[in-house]
Amino acid sequence: MQTYGLYLNGQFVETETSIDVTNPATEESIARVCTADKKKVLTAIKDAHNAFLSWRELTARTRGDYLLKVAAVMESRKDEIARVMTMEAGKALNGSVAEVAGSIDHLRWFAEEGRRAYGRIIPHQTEGKRHLVIKSPVGVVGAISPWNFPLILAVRKAAPALAAGCPVILKPASQTPIVSVLLAECMDEAGIPPGVFQMVLGDSSMIGKVLLEHPLVRKITFTGSTEVGKVLIKDAAEQVKPLSLELGGHAPAIVFDDCDLESTVQNVIDAKFRNTGQSCIAANRLYVQDGIYDQFMKLFLQETKKQKVGNGLEDGVSIGALIDEKALEHALHQIEDAKSKGAKVLSGGKRWGDKGYFLEPTILSDVPADALCMNEETFAPMLPVMKFHDEADAIALANDTRYGLSAYAFTQDINRMFRLAEQLEAGTIAINDGVPSTSNAPFGGVKQSGWGRELGSEGLEEFLDVKHISIGGN
Ligand code: NAP
Repeated sequence: MQTYGLYLNGQFVETETSIDVTNPATEESIARVCTADKKKVLTAIKDAHNAFLSWRELTARTRGDYLLKVAAVMESRKDEIARVMTMEAGKALNGSVAEVAGSIDHLRWFAEEGRRAYGRIIPHQTEGKRHLVIKSPVGVVGAISPWNFPLILAVRKAAPALAAGCPVILKPASQTPIVSVLLAECMDEAGIPPGVFQMVLGDSSMIGKVLLEHPLVRKITFTGSTEVGKVLIKDAAEQVKPLSLELGGHAPAIVFDDCDLESTVQNVIDAKFRNTGQSCIAANRLYVQDGIYDQFMKLFLQETKKQKVGNGLEDGVSIGALIDEKALEHALHQIEDAKSKGAKVLSGGKRWGDKGYFLEPTILSDVPADALCMNEETFAPMLPVMKFHDEADAIALANDTRYGLSAYAFTQDINRMFRLAEQLEAGTIAINDGVPSTSNAPFGGVKQSGWGRELGSEGLEEFLDVKHISIGGN
């Protein structure tokens, strides 16, 4: 079995400790990835800081050229990276292919956007003074990423940080670290200088604490659960360390009577089943207006039953394996809980196959508001559907959650679109769109879904300090 090293100060380093990576579709170990102890993490921080002193001096254009080279290397290895991603994360291969393509686009977009970190000159209001605003890179960045989109969520942090002039120490999830090693290989082949990008793996709470406590690490950017986000907030207090947090979600999808029926069905299928439902912006609750309920449900169930479950490497599979047994048990528990509270199973509802962690695509109706699936993330191909009568009720139901990452709505009424955009409590409002995230627009949450934004020009700002320069004179 292959063993992958860590990427430290421009070298791939093997250590005596490692973790096994399991293919969730076959339950077989596929590789080992080495882990770092505290000493190695501390050395990585020192090396990153040394690299910062020269990386920040480069022009944004030169840093952008490096990122374009990383994108070109990734493009040349895209098929291999996508296959590895499917094997370690269980996802359908077309999803992995799309994730690699999206990551390349993020790299290219931030290669350009780094050149637009403009300051400004402010008209003075005291005779003789001059006021300027400049933006400087914050310094060493600790980036902690999850397993569900193992490449793109790491790139979403690394690309803007590097473009802004900040070195990055990436700590990927233990379940999917191989893709991050491949990302490090792309950085290495592109000639990114030693220490500018490093990858560590190991005891996540130790690495998190070291990054949070070290004064040379100036920023932590984290994607993961709200629960771990809260732990980081507490630990960040000592150093008053800035955090960008991309946390959990519980997206509502609202289908109005006036929607375009066929495209809405397809968009809801994407919003729910993309990445086997393991997306922070996956539709978690579906509200359908009473006038279109029967028509919509007939088509939606037909399309749901067409989804092919199986090993993501097989042709035509759209629903792959869940990440591990715990994830499968969590989904089955939510289904049993909903059934015990009166829900009806319209499709699926059971484990699929006897090897690997698969769930049949599952649709539930008549789910009461106190069912677990109406309140906690599902992270599986399972969707509860409820009927509603008017717009105000739908908005109130949609907002009745501690989360606020994304919300979907389907309507042809332009005035309603604006009312929804203004009143739904989420960072992304997707109207007639099942796949809303894109390199050039901000992504992030309100309420307990997080702090700050990734992507768009806002994604670059997260890695820049704003400085006012006040010059006295005559
Ligand atoms: P998680 O358990 O919070 O883990 C995320 C990352 O944090 C992993 O690298 C994990 O490492 C690490 N971690 C765990 N405990 C830590 C600690 N005490 N200190 C520092 N790091 C720690 O989340 P997950 O299960 O991997 O991912 C699913 C969650 O992410 C869902 O809630 C989902 O909604 C959210 N998510 C949010 C977004 C967004 O953009 N808002 C995007 C995708 C996913 P180990 O793997 O080694 O434990």
